[in-house]
Amino acid sequence: MNRKMPRVKCPVCQLTITNNMLKRHQDNTCWGDTPITDALTERTYQYWKHKKKATKQRHAIDWKLSGKELMQLLDDAGITHDDVGRSSSSYQLARYEDTGDYAVGNCRYITLRENIQERKFSDKALESMQQSHAARWDNIVTPHGVFNSKSDAGRKIGVTRNMVRRRVDDPKYPDWYQEDNSVDKNHPVEKSVEENECQS
Ligand SMILES: [Zn+2]
Repeated sequence: MNRKMPRVKCPVCQLTITNNMLKRHQDNTCWGDTPITDALTERTYQYWKHKKKATKQRHAIDWKLSGKELMQLLDDAGITHDDVGRSSSSYQLARYEDTGDYAVGNCRYITLRENIQERKFSDKALESMQQSHAARWDNIVTPHGVFNSKSDAGRKIGVTRNMVRRRVDDPKYPDWYQEDNSVDKNHPVEKSVEENECQS
């Protein structure tokens, strides 16, 4: 029972693993080229491993994120793995419009609340969801500059994405807002110009 299996380090992710598991690890559960060093990353790795297995088994969706890419997504959202969880204010990895694979460019961390809202949209009307999806990538205007997304703004200003969102939504911060150009793209408003011409 206490017999110790010889242990080796995976040359790719540096995870310590029993000798007989190395082949299986490299085929299925290797984290990738970011070494698993501290406790936090170890937790992230456990999550990554679970998601990789679960998405394929339960949903027949492909999990194409490497460990490094998962860490990048956490970083993009301005959070650590400690912020990931099941309460409504904690974060979940969600796919855009709930379709496609878990891959770079097709998913990001949002709060559980946001994720549920998004699912309701997709059930109700796909069109309105796509509009809100487009609106999410509109310019975020702040006193520190204009950014492509809230997480981008947070990262460059040095605050969390949540903080940016709160300020954008809060009327007490008129300098923080989301520029909505989704309506004007196809139908430029020229009426006011014509009216001005008539008056002069
Ligand atoms: Zn490995």
